[in-house]
Amino acid sequence: MQTLWARHALVAGQWLADVRVEIDAGRILSCTPDQPATGQRVHLLLPAPANSHSHAFQRAMAGLTEQRGPQAGDSFWTWRQLMFRFLNDLTPEQVEAITAFVQMEMLEAGFGASVEFHYLHHRAGGAPYRNPAEMSERIAAAAETSGIGLTLLPVLYQFGGCDGRALGPGQQRFGNTPDSYATLLSGAEGAVMQLPPDSVLGTAPHSLRAVSREALQSLPGLRPDAPIHMHLAEQKAEVDEVQAHWGARPVDWALDNLDLNGRWCLIHCTQMTAQETSALARTGAVAGLCPLTEASLGDGIFDGIRWVENAGAISIGSDSNIRISLAEELRQLDTTQRLRDHSRAAFATRARSTGRRLLEDAAIGGAQAAGRGAGRIEPGAWADLLALDTGHPDLEGLSPDTALDTFVFAGDSAMVSDVWSAGRHLVTGGRHIARDQITEDYRGAVRTLRAGL
Ligand code: ZN
Repeated sequence: MQTLWARHALVAGQWLADVRVEIDAGRILSCTPDQPATGQRVHLLLPAPANSHSHAFQRAMAGLTEQRGPQAGDSFWTWRQLMFRFLNDLTPEQVEAITAFVQMEMLEAGFGASVEFHYLHHRAGGAPYRNPAEMSERIAAAAETSGIGLTLLPVLYQFGGCDGRALGPGQQRFGNTPDSYATLLSGAEGAVMQLPPDSVLGTAPHSLRAVSREALQSLPGLRPDAPIHMHLAEQKAEVDEVQAHWGARPVDWALDNLDLNGRWCLIHCTQMTAQETSALARTGAVAGLCPLTEASLGDGIFDGIRWVENAGAISIGSDSNIRISLAEELRQLDTTQRLRDHSRAAFATRARSTGRRLLEDAAIGGAQAAGRGAGRIEPGAWADLLALDTGHPDLEGLSPDTALDTFVFAGDSAMVSDVWSAGRHLVTGGRHIARDQITEDYRGAVRTLRAGL
């Protein structure tokens, strides 16, 4: 049993003062206001959102893709080419080290869990490892090192495009048939079962470009009740390709052909018509938004205002991990709406300020996307908690709502003092408890990789 005491805590959607929070076996047991200070003391206690979309290995490429490619005008496609070349060299040991580093940075940024959309399964050239779930085991091992609550989503990636063409040279390490995928999934299940009980295993068809219609229909049945994630409608070229081969725009096709519901998290959705946006929002599926990566790749702007007007759920992911910052992701989600609509405080409502609404909604939607009973500070939920240090000069003298707005719009991870994932106290004084060792292992991995570029 652990006891925390917070000067202010956002408990089940409202601010309470002098709150004692008791945690038992990773879950919140009780939250009681107006208590004398005891146990671990923190200032401002919030639910820590799950990071709902990550390809951890891409962290090691951050900053390496900012030169012009040989084609006129850089694009997502030239970025992808560099990624394919880079990942040809990655070993399981390097993937584990990079993933642990990413998860550590997520925790230090205030995320309470990580959903890994994991498609790097095989050796360079495409031959499986002797253990087909080798790489899934490495992701799980990284989560054991970092302590983060893991939702592992092994990805089914069958084809190089909508026409069913074979995988290209850079995609060999991703490929599976539905049969080999089922084997992989059961190996991944073994790895996840070694982790603490808040860990989750779900499934993920990569995108409409990379899987068959039959596989898309059958995947949800492989793990009933578990989360299903898929990239959807990220790039204009993807919309055109799906339209040409599948006879409809990606979101329209998904609405007509998939049983979309709250188990689904659809990643990006930056290319939707107004009608697609409202219809998809109403299915109950979560929009998995990655505003920093979407900006980096020039994907487009998610129609967030229309989405939430239709009661759509949102979550935040760091995707390419070019930058891992909860505050910056939430800020960019709002500021992109402002730039498009010439507005301010786009997500604010009469009752909730912008930062408050974004954090609360991302915590609830993130927990849904991760298949994790968390997202609110309330009895029974996993104790995924984030504390802000109101001793930071920019937070001096502010009300809880204004402090939260300041974290999102004027602050950064330096304001995060403590983070718990299912009760595991992993960040203290703003630092991950194993920062030195995880950083040293990461440095060793990227030194070798960069020497080969
Ligand atoms: Zn992605």
